[in-house]
Amino acid sequence: MRKYLYEYYRISLDDENAIESNSITNQRHLVKSHISTISELADMPTKELVDDGHTGTNFNRPGITQLLDAARRGEVACIVVKDLSRFGRKFLEVSKYLEQLFPYLGIRFIAVGDNYDSDTHKGTTANLDVPVRNMLNALYSKNVSKNVKSAKQTQTQQGKYINAFAPYGFKKDPTDKHRIIIDEPAAAVVRRIFELTCEGKRPKQIADTFNAEGVLTPSSYKKKNGSKLKIMGITNSVWSNSTIVYLLRDERYKGTFIGGKIEAGELGTDKRIYKPKNEWIRIPNSHPAIITQEMWDTAVLKRGTNSGRDGKPNIERMLYKRVRCGYCGHVLRYRTESNHNYYVCKTPGYTNEYGCPSTSYVEHEIVNAVKKVVCSHITIMLDLKKLSETMKNVSTKGISTVHITIEELDGEIKQLKTSKRTLYERYKKGSLDTAEYLKVREATENKITIKTAERETLTAHNNIQTDAVNSANFFFDSFVGLQDGGEPSAEVVNVLVKSVHIFSKHRIEICFSFADKLEKALQSLNQGL
Ligand SMILES: [Zn+2]
Repeated sequence: MRKYLYEYYRISLDDENAIESNSITNQRHLVKSHISTISELADMPTKELVDDGHTGTNFNRPGITQLLDAARRGEVACIVVKDLSRFGRKFLEVSKYLEQLFPYLGIRFIAVGDNYDSDTHKGTTANLDVPVRNMLNALYSKNVSKNVKSAKQTQTQQGKYINAFAPYGFKKDPTDKHRIIIDEPAAAVVRRIFELTCEGKRPKQIADTFNAEGVLTPSSYKKKNGSKLKIMGITNSVWSNSTIVYLLRDERYKGTFIGGKIEAGELGTDKRIYKPKNEWIRIPNSHPAIITQEMWDTAVLKRGTNSGRDGKPNIERMLYKRVRCGYCGHVLRYRTESNHNYYVCKTPGYTNEYGCPSTSYVEHEIVNAVKKVVCSHITIMLDLKKLSETMKNVSTKGISTVHITIEELDGEIKQLKTSKRTLYERYKKGSLDTAEYLKVREATENKITIKTAERETLTAHNNIQTDAVNSANFFFDSFVGLQDGGEPSAEVVNVLVKSVHIFSKHRIEICFSFADKLEKALQSLNQGL
């Protein structure tokens, strides 16, 4: 029988956004020029099938039906499409054809735009990774802005200790000047301050106790250890109320990195700007802790304050501290003017190096844009959840890569067992002689053994698939109920959005805090395919 190379083209009304790139002419151009580069395909007789105005979400298309019929008749050597989505948009079904039917029929499949050629992927198990990823990405990127990372921000986010001196209770790591380690004698004093506070002692009482016991103050301790430098805010040789309070407020004792407290003032001046506490950069667990978070919390409660001069709890405002300048990466200043709230970058006041505009962005416009994107993400996650559930069902049913299901195998095994029984009955009746009977019986038993082993392998394979899909499912599950009230709440937005980078009113990039988890879940989904 003569075999053909089939070019398949599809255009549909749901491609409105990409009409031009998906026009039949364009598809044909891409496909033909790709074929011409592959010598074994270039001379092959070619047939062309087109579905005009048909959606890719199902396989009820005249062109595709013809194609699949031809495939089953063994007339197809190779199928070439512009990209997988031309062939179909439901990737469960698409992957069924690509992983099972086509390999089974010996058909080569090429998706030019996805860089997928079943010939070059032969023998690898994860051969659908790339095209499936592309399809997921297409789905995912529909309403999505790309993540950005500002180099500057990344550096600070690493939590490098860049101050010249270690705070009291710590010392610089002799092997890495960007790290601090615990200085035990001083750390013991710090720990005691917190312990006494947790027991309900006031700072004044603690200072008195220390003075009575002759405990060295931080500055005396430093001096004793050879340092000639004063420690900011602590210069006394006797313990005072304020020294204790100063230490009790230092979050570094619980292992949190604190950065961005002071900012350089105008260029050419020594002026420094002390930033409000709620604008500091905090990175938990970035160095060894002297006290536990629990102890810190208890101390805060006992002192009856929120641990700082301006220490209001700062969780309720949507996008709090998350809105950054797209150019310099700094958190935008939040300010209120005649009852309107704005974000503005303060960097242009210091330098033009990053080309930041001094535009003010109206808070509610930014918030609304972010909310929309968050909404569409939640929707996508819920779609993916449905998908992973469907996949769960599929893998439970057990479709193997050799195009056979557990049910089918069970059927075959049952049949073999029946024929073994029939065989015995025939032998009993005398219609078979012993030699013949034993020969056929052995052959049948062998077949049963093989089929049973096949069934076991398939079951094991399905279990792996199910595990992978389950873990993906678990992730997508966490999005259920997040927008039950229609709009996502400030709390939800703050949990999902890591940062928002503003370049202009029309260009906002959102970095999601679940990006890594999503990546893993998508990998699991791929595994489950
Ligand atoms: Zn800026």
